[in-house]
Amino acid sequence: MNSEEHIIAPVESAAADEDIIIVRDLNKWFGQFHVLKSLNLNVKKGERIVICGPSGSGKSTFIRCINHLEAHQRGEIIVDGVVLNEDLKNIEAIRREVGMVFQHFNLFPHLSVLENCLLAPIWVRKTPRKEAIEIAMEYLERVKIPEQAHKYPGQLSGGQQQRVAIARSLCMKPKIMLFDEPTSALDPEMIKEVLDVMIELAGSGMTMLCVTHEMGFAKTVADRVIFMDGGECVEEGPPQSFFNNPQQPRTREFLDQIL
Ligand code: ADP
Ligand code: MG
Repeated sequence: MNSEEHIIAPVESAAADEDIIIVRDLNKWFGQFHVLKSLNLNVKKGERIVICGPSGSGKSTFIRCINHLEAHQRGEIIVDGVVLNEDLKNIEAIRREVGMVFQHFNLFPHLSVLENCLLAPIWVRKTPRKEAIEIAMEYLERVKIPEQAHKYPGQLSGGQQQRVAIARSLCMKPKIMLFDEPTSALDPEMIKEVLDVMIELAGSGMTMLCVTHEMGFAKTVADRVIFMDGGECVEEGPPQSFFNNPQQPRTREFLDQIL
């Protein structure tokens, strides 16, 4: 290799590095049903993306493809430089970097809050228990419930459980967080306490993909809003233009219904 190639190579990889998620021509079928139709998305490190759209439009399926909770049939997903294919090593590498928070919290009911937070760091990351406890307490403090560490999920409110779920994900020190309607199962008075944690996380520079209909949240933190319908990305843009000047009739109709 001559010296010129030496100089060029790092520049190219630095540019590619910037996109921590690359989705190209993503297609998925459930049997005959074409659920995701040629989706494309590039996400830069630290970017906050909100995905909205009617029920059944493929939002959950889309973000579940990113950590391979669902397999795709055509197209390409690259997360932090790792190509998502059927290679288990790649899938595991990607899952280590991608945290996910679900609508229904998905905490282990028979484990305390603290034990919920220790499980993956100890068994997946092989973190020593003492260190894992320190990390868990740090994140439980960050989501403002350190005093609940020894309770069981069933003893907590929905909002507290969702904050535990967020802390549990953060204990794995992910580079990317996926949120699938994290507040839609919560009573109205608990929505804010979860959104506040998400807003704080966004402020810390976390790369986030959030499926949510909390349009206040979208306006506050999103760099881009994506509107999906019928398995397609119908429209995307920065919140200002997305909300004030939507271009597509389907987007306008959707926004009229929820705003
Ligand atoms: P959203 O999250 O936007 O409400 P989903 O991604 O959950 O939408 O679902 C998109 C479509 O795919 C829906 O029509 C849904 O019924 C269908 N679907 C979701 N999961 C499955 C599955 N495991 N098998 C078959 N169809 C599914
Ligand atoms: Mg969904």
